Parts: sequence; structure tokens; C-alpha cells
Amino acid sequence: MVVRFTNQRQEILDYINSKPHHPTVDEVYTAVKIKLPRISKATVYQNLKVLAEKGYIKEVNIKGASRFEPILDEHHHIICRECGKIIDYESKALTEYSMTLAKNMKDMDIEFTNTNFYGKCKKCKKR
Ligand SMILES: [Zn+2]
Ligand SMILES: [Zn+2]
Repeated sequence: MVVRFTNQRQEILDYINSKPHHPTVDEVYTAVKIKLPRISKATVYQNLKVLAEKGYIKEVNIKGASRFEPILDEHHHIICRECGKIIDYESKALTEYSMTLAKNMKDMDIEFTNTNFYGKCKKCKKR
């Protein structure tokens, strides 16, 4: 079965898949609005939620804000505390190590893990 999306949902999905910078709802809204001037922020938000629930995109929470990214392999994030720049960081070793620790966590069944590393990016360091 071919999944048919509404035009709006497709635009949102395309945007997320083409932008690796983990946009927030506001950033997605601003970008999609250029092509679909009548779209509302609530609609964007709703579509993002549905796409994430259905597994087409992934929602990550960074510094208390929801951000969205394409479905990639399990990865971690390096985050600049000053400008909020986010870089994907892939480390199988870290993922495996975290999941080994997770096996000993008796209070909950751990399904996945991702680690955030915080610091200053090169640009902000120069300032
Ligand atoms: Zn920075
Ligand atoms: Zn990411």
C-alpha cells in the first residue's frame, strides 16, 4: 500500500528530510509557510506529531524544546550551549555501552538511548 500524504504533510516531511539541522516547530513553520502561505502553526505542529508517531521522522528534546530530524541510525548529539547548534554524533561503542548499562536498570525497560554532549562550538569559541 502506498501511503498518501496531504500536500502539507508531504512538504513538512520533505523539509525535515532535507535539513539535517534538527529544526524546531517554529523553524519548520517558517520554511513550509513559504510554499504553503495559508498553513497555520497548529497544523504544522499536528503534522509533525503524527509523522513522528508513525515513525517517519524523529522527535528529539533538546534543552526543553522539541526538534525534529529524519530517521537515522541511533545517534547522539553534540550541542553548543551558546548558539544551540546541534551536530549528530554517531558512536556504536557509546550506544552499545549505554544499552549494556540499561540492562541493569531494574525500574524500567529501556528501549533506546541518546546522549547529549554540551559545549562551545568553534564559532562561539572565537567570539
Ligand atoms: Zn555555537
Ligand atoms: Zn540528530
